[in-house]
Amino acid sequence: MELTVLGCGDAFGSGGRNHTSFLIVEKNEGVLLDCGASTLIRLKHEGITLDSISTIVISHFHGDHFGGIPFFLISSLFENPRTAALTIVGPEGVRRRVLELQEAMYAGTAEKLEDLDLRFVEYSQGESTILGDKVIKAWQVEHSPPSMPHGIRLEWNGKRIAFSGDTSWSENLIPLSNGTDLFICECNFQNEVSFGHLSYSELLEKQSEFDTKSLWLTHMADEVFEASDFVLNRLEDGQKISI
Ligand SMILES: [Zn+2]
Repeated sequence: MELTVLGCGDAFGSGGRNHTSFLIVEKNEGVLLDCGASTLIRLKHEGITLDSISTIVISHFHGDHFGGIPFFLISSLFENPRTAALTIVGPEGVRRRVLELQEAMYAGTAEKLEDLDLRFVEYSQGESTILGDKVIKAWQVEHSPPSMPHGIRLEWNGKRIAFSGDTSWSENLIPLSNGTDLFICECNFQNEVSFGHLSYSELLEKQSEFDTKSLWLTHMADEVFEASDFVLNRLEDGQKISI
């Protein structure tokens, strides 16, 4: 199993880094954790065909995390007509939110999505959502409430990969990280303590509470990405991690 970082930037594209998306591939099948606005571009950069992606799991309804879905879907409708099934998993209301976004960005295309084998699945706090050989679990985290923020975990072929989503410190990050082979945690700031995001100084204090084999940071402003004397792992766009 391999994870490719399609984007580990913040909402502002700091440092030219792309919006959040992580591609996990096992035996030629791909799962996206988040699909920020730049995701289609990054998939093409990596030479990934969209048909190989079976599932998109969304952490919350902000554009740097799900704004890439309409681009993914218009490519699937018009550029390379898709026949493979696609499942989009997200918080309550995921179908309505995606269709509203689709129609806002490409008016008249939401109804054409009926041509695709497209399925929407809602996850619930702390519960397992089973999709064939995959289990998705989600925990509520602390970010803008209207975006319905969650940390998300994928269990697939004996591996566990979790992503915090966007959040300030939440006790739910501890069960989210439980038994993970890889835990990707947001770290927007160096020292600033604020609602909705984490800082490096907070994570230095809290990281021992995580139960993971490998902790990596994402969603970094420049002050985090460029900091020296840094002891935690920082992701980079294009990076590949074997799991
Ligand atoms: Zn974000």
